[in-house]
Amino acid sequence: MNIIMLGAQGTGKGTVAGILSEQLGIPQISTGDIFRKNIKEETELGKKANEYITKGQLVPDEITVPMVSKRLSEDDAKNGAILDGFPRTIAQAEKLDEILAESGNKIDLVVNLTTPRDEIIERILTRRVCSNQACKTTYNLIMNPPKKEGICDKCGSELVQREDDKSEEAIRQRLAIYDEQTSPLVEYYEKRGVLKTEEVSSRTNHLGTDVAKEVIDYIKEK
Ligand code: AMP
Repeated sequence: MNIIMLGAQGTGKGTVAGILSEQLGIPQISTGDIFRKNIKEETELGKKANEYITKGQLVPDEITVPMVSKRLSEDDAKNGAILDGFPRTIAQAEKLDEILAESGNKIDLVVNLTTPRDEIIERILTRRVCSNQACKTTYNLIMNPPKKEGICDKCGSELVQREDDKSEEAIRQRLAIYDEQTSPLVEYYEKRGVLKTEEVSSRTNHLGTDVAKEVIDYIKEK
């Protein structure tokens, strides 16, 4: 089963994707995480991607698409994957269709997360992530703080703030790109009848963990 997590930054895509991945036994493929790992390891790909990521811009398709295609061809993804952060444009969605069709596959479900914009900015500014690449658990200093300040509950590693989460200006730039280039994907997948939209908001107390449970139930029913 191939699932796409759609939604602006800070809506909880990573959290929902992580739970779905665990429950469904298929890998979570986060393009942002793959880029950050390459940046940390100072690979050629990481150096190129970093130029765009620090400015809040999209990494060009010549770099991103082959990277995703390669990851999807790995053994653990043979029964499907949860794509988190890809596709981000109609052009990427069309490429993804081609990549999946080569192995006789398709997109089965697109989970579209929505959150009020002012809440998104607050959530991103207070987001902290586990620095352990194998863990990567996400926390929120207000809604979901770790038990011990600065330390991951799950693995005990240090929690850090993503570089691109530090400035409100860079966050607004990423949201503008989402509105302009990524949001048309909602209609793209709605037309195909694979879209499931869910609101994630602490104001209505409907969080990523609730959405993950609902999506699992929905998949079981189908
Ligand atoms: P994310 O962790 O999904 O917020 O991604 C962090 C950054 O990585 C984004 O702001 C982009 O610069 C880059 N990135 C992630 N996924 C993609 C993609 N599908 N296409 C282009 N750039 C991407």
